[in-house]
Amino acid sequence: MSRKSLISVRDLSVHFGLRGGGFGKRPVVRAVEGVDMDIAPGSFFGLVGESGSGKTTLGRALLRAVPITRGDLKYDDGEKQYDLAKISKNELKDYRSRAQLIFQDPYAALSPRMTVRDIIAEPLEVMGLTRSREETDERVREIAAKCRLNLEHLRRFPHAFSGGQRQRISIARALVSGPRFVVADESVAALDVSIQADVLNLLKAIQQEMGLTFLFISHDLSVVAHICSQVAVMYLGRLVETAPTRQLFAGPKHPYTRALLSAIPSLDPDDGGKVQKLEGEIPSPTNPPPGCKFQTRCPHATDICRKEEPRLEAGENNHNVACHLWKELMG
Ligand code: SF4
Repeated sequence: MSRKSLISVRDLSVHFGLRGGGFGKRPVVRAVEGVDMDIAPGSFFGLVGESGSGKTTLGRALLRAVPITRGDLKYDDGEKQYDLAKISKNELKDYRSRAQLIFQDPYAALSPRMTVRDIIAEPLEVMGLTRSREETDERVREIAAKCRLNLEHLRRFPHAFSGGQRQRISIARALVSGPRFVVADESVAALDVSIQADVLNLLKAIQQEMGLTFLFISHDLSVVAHICSQVAVMYLGRLVETAPTRQLFAGPKHPYTRALLSAIPSLDPDDGGKVQKLEGEIPSPTNPPPGCKFQTRCPHATDICRKEEPRLEAGENNHNVACHLWKELMG
């Protein structure tokens, strides 16, 4: 494991059995397959891809909220180290206070029958992290202020708030236990565009102030460009390209990344002639195609693509890609 990593992932796979299919034929969803990834402490790491690419399952696996089928998964914040693939129940309890999730939908995530104070306080009480109501209240007030909520807000119920305010309540709830690692799963996708920038700026400010490490999951590359320092692109359970954000946007190597970027015209206004449209649907993870998983939609696919699966190749400046033909395509 790299000593620079808060989270280190090697050959991680997460498979689920589906119901149905008859005896002996239970379909298997290969949601995550052979993922290698390092997340540096204090970074904002973006994970992008279409719906069905496995991003959410990978995020949940890093939180140990889903069982791991195969691979190594390590956590090291300098104070605590966990082998997450083999973590015990007791260790998992402690890990929960260090690794938290911000939910996608601020409307569904908050109980309508609880006050904002009780919603934010709940993780402290469930994990037994405070010794008195006064201490809990102090922690709640502290994190509410960081999330730009005031004392008056704490007495109200969620229905009294706008989408942006509810997401700030969700963020406060996720951060009240003092985590080091936060998975934000499509955390601004349900918000109006005008509110998105507000919440993104808040996340960035809190991340810097509290020295947090974020895995920021999104289908929207323009949002990732705004906030992340490092990006991994995921397709059908695999990472197909990883790079520092600026490098990925300046010179995407994988045809899938290039197609995703082409869908954001404002980012590359002079590139109208090279726009690559993404045709078709992502295949089912119960029945992935042989060879390169992108071959059914890739306009450049050849025989080798249909036979051999490309591995994620380490490139210069930490820019890695999994494509047999990327050099030819770049040239
Ligand atoms: Fe396309 Fe082949 Fe590269 Fe896959 S390996 S992305 S099919 S060119």
